Parts: sequence; structure tokens; C-alpha cells
Amino acid sequence: MDHPYVILPEEQAPHGIEHCEICELSKQRNRVIWGEGNPKAPLMMILDNPGAREDREGNSFLCGTRETLQFGMREAGIDVNDIYVTYLLKRRPMHAYNKPEARAACLPHLQLQLIQKQPLVLFGFGNVVAESLFPDEENASVKELRGSWHEFQGMPISFTYHPLAVRRRPNLLRFFIEDLKALKMKWQEIQHVRT
Ligand code: SF4
Repeated sequence: MDHPYVILPEEQAPHGIEHCEICELSKQRNRVIWGEGNPKAPLMMILDNPGAREDREGNSFLCGTRETLQFGMREAGIDVNDIYVTYLLKRRPMHAYNKPEARAACLPHLQLQLIQKQPLVLFGFGNVVAESLFPDEENASVKELRGSWHEFQGMPISFTYHPLAVRRRPNLLRFFIEDLKALKMKWQEIQHVRT
């Protein structure tokens, strides 16, 4: 049987950012992953940081996060060609690091992506993304923010649980799919208004 999930094509970081060394994560054995999927997609999904994309031999690899994300999308009727996935941190942390500093250092990269790509809807996964995008909001957590729409940099955004949390706690799967269905509805509403 064919593997039901796909490895999304990676988008290279813009010239000058591919070797970014602004924060301490550049000293760990990792590389900048700017994003993956359709760079012109209407839906931009934001995860905390990239998982492994290659195994030890350098072969492309589908991590659990990507697999669960695609499972949820399929259940919600979202096509992989309609999404672009990016990260709060563009490098995969390999060891302990100063989290607030790295998140603050990397945020301008995400802000640049939003300016350049102008997606129609944003969707964040997990508490780290929620807290980092809404630092002034008390209790900015998935539990508080999911199920309704907010605004980030002038774009609608909502949240759901991190795919790894869903893998660990299967009782979250139903909420995960529900939230992804709400994302699809929001996108359809915006498309409807614009046509
Ligand atoms: S995590 Fe972000 S800010 Fe830090 S070195 Fe990588 S690209 Fe630069």
C-alpha cells in the first residue's frame, strides 16, 4: 500500500537568511528550515519548530508531527496543496537553549514571511506558538484561544493542539479535527466574500 502521507517540498530561506546566526540555535548541529508546502498557499500553518526532515543517511523523512497534521487535514477536507507550513523557530533545537531569547530573535522571520506571502488565514499549533504570538495576553494558550478567531498582523488566526500532543493524547484528536474543519470554513468564508 502506498504511504498515505507526503513529504512537502521545502522552500529555501531567502538569500542572506539561510545562514542566519542571530540566536544561539545556529551553534547547534541543525540548519534553517524556512517552510514547506505551497509558498503561495492561502493557509499558513505555524508550528513551534521543524522536526527532523532527513534520517541519518540524508533521506527525506516524514516525522510524527507531519503525519498527524496531514491525517487531521485529510479528515477536515484540506488539500496539502492549499497549505504552507512554517515555524516560529526556523531551526530545530537539538539541545537546551534560551527559549524566550530564541523565540524573540526568530519572530521577525515569521513577520517577514507574512508580509511577503499574504496568506488568507493563519493557524497555530500548540501553546508555544499561542504564547509567542500573543505575549501580552494573559492565558494565551490553545485551550483559551481555540474555537474562535483572533488577529495577528492584520490576518485572522486560530489555534489547535500541537500534533505531537494529539499523538500522545488521542482524546484530543476530535478537537484537532474540529479545529481544522473550522479553519477550512473560515477560508471558504473569506473566499466567498472576495468573489
Ligand atoms: S532560530 Fe531563527 S533567529 Fe535563531 S539562528 Fe535560526 S533562523 Fe536565526
